[in-house]
Amino acid sequence: MKTIFEKDKSLHSKPLYKGDIGFCERKSPLNLPDMSELEVMRHFKELSDRNFCIEKGFYPLGSCTMKYNPRVNEQVSRFDGFINLHPLQDDTDCQGALEIMYDLSRMLKIITGMHTVTLQPCAGAHGEFCAMGVVKKYFLHNGENDRKKVIIPDNAHGTNPMSAKMNGFECIEVKSDERGGVDIEELENIINEHGCTIAAIMMTNPNTLGLYDENILKISDMLHKNGSLLYYDGANLNAVMGHTNPALMGFDIVHLNLHKTFSTPHGAGGPGAGPVGVVEKLKDFLPVPQIEFDGEKYFRNYDKPLSIGKVSAFYGNFSVLVRAYTYILMLSKNLKDVSSDAVLCANYIKEKLKKHYKLPYDKPCMHEFVLSGDLQKEKGVNTLEIAKRLMDSNCHPPTVYFPLIVHEAMMIEPTESESKEVLDSFIDTMIEIAREVEQDASKFKQYPLNTPVLRADETLAARHLNIKYEFND
Ligand SMILES: *Cc1c(COP(=O)(O)O)cnc(C)c1O
Repeated sequence: MKTIFEKDKSLHSKPLYKGDIGFCERKSPLNLPDMSELEVMRHFKELSDRNFCIEKGFYPLGSCTMKYNPRVNEQVSRFDGFINLHPLQDDTDCQGALEIMYDLSRMLKIITGMHTVTLQPCAGAHGEFCAMGVVKKYFLHNGENDRKKVIIPDNAHGTNPMSAKMNGFECIEVKSDERGGVDIEELENIINEHGCTIAAIMMTNPNTLGLYDENILKISDMLHKNGSLLYYDGANLNAVMGHTNPALMGFDIVHLNLHKTFSTPHGAGGPGAGPVGVVEKLKDFLPVPQIEFDGEKYFRNYDKPLSIGKVSAFYGNFSVLVRAYTYILMLSKNLKDVSSDAVLCANYIKEKLKKHYKLPYDKPCMHEFVLSGDLQKEKGVNTLEIAKRLMDSNCHPPTVYFPLIVHEAMMIEPTESESKEVLDSFIDTMIEIAREVEQDASKFKQYPLNTPVLRADETLAARHLNIKYEFND
């Protein structure tokens, strides 16, 4: 596509002086529909009404922690003092903002058990990328240039291998055993075979099956004896907050998803924050600047010669940090109850549904669990069709077809924010759906019937991707 400058090269030579914006003026009008402001507002309101959100109904999208986002978070993040700050203001002009970042890091250190935390990464995946950069730099600095391999369990989130790969690591998959944890025997074989070329293992605990790895201490021992590091994907922190922490499990480096565990609206990919915490021996490799306190004032410290550098503009996604800070302050000691309640809700639903759907790992789960739609598939209804049917009951479908190791997977995460009535109503709907499958599987080809957009043609959408809208003149 041509830019306006390419269309008219002579524009470049025109001098730019105060008051003259001719330099960047268009030569032809933008091809936009001719509408009044009111019409535009109605258009966007209509679009927003079509969206499903946590304020509209139950949103058990496993692994995403779609909990309620308290409005006080939003109010605080919009205080004048925060939204009118400029990131280039002098340290002395923004002591309050720096104090919040310093304090939030301190809280996250307590929650994770880590020594130092950076708030800079802007998403979970971004935190992973930053953390694996730290791992790489640590080994290079120690002269262990051969540590180029990273072990990743077969139920890991796809961002894990991607983050390792983008830092130049090679990934080795380790299988899960029949109890849903890392297969210890296979891990042992991998360590024996690859020895000192293994930089780290990346684990989510509880994992994406919602199961806490019973062998975690053994695993950390095996890896540490091999001189390797343990990386904790903190997307599932909502299950364990205040009860245990990644340091106690033996991890060396951690990312958190503040938008998940600490409540920021994050549907459709943003906004987010993915702080990274590390044990003491890794602290010098974190991004600059670090927010520090010299006993009198807070300041941004760039003097970190071993740092991997910067991973985002300025200091991260400040408004998400303020939301997380507010959330943690508001709950303080009760953070532990968040996890207890999230785990209780997940187990309640699991126990009620296991008579109606296949439950591949039938044991107590953490904050989420994975069902298989295999029984329904035998009758001719697959998991995608169950998901579409659920949408007719004002419920966002669970995560489907993930993790990959469960056939027809449905990953259900209720979170702590729902009432028993909502959980019961979801359970009833799921049982009703199982009954409908028994009665007439053919009906499932038509759902959803009550949503703003009806059944999409998935094949057409995948084969003829068209994401550009052309305005009619
Ligand atoms: C959500 C998630 C991620 C990625 O986090 P983003 O904030 O979406 O980038 C990584 N791992 C797991 C297990 C997740 O659930």
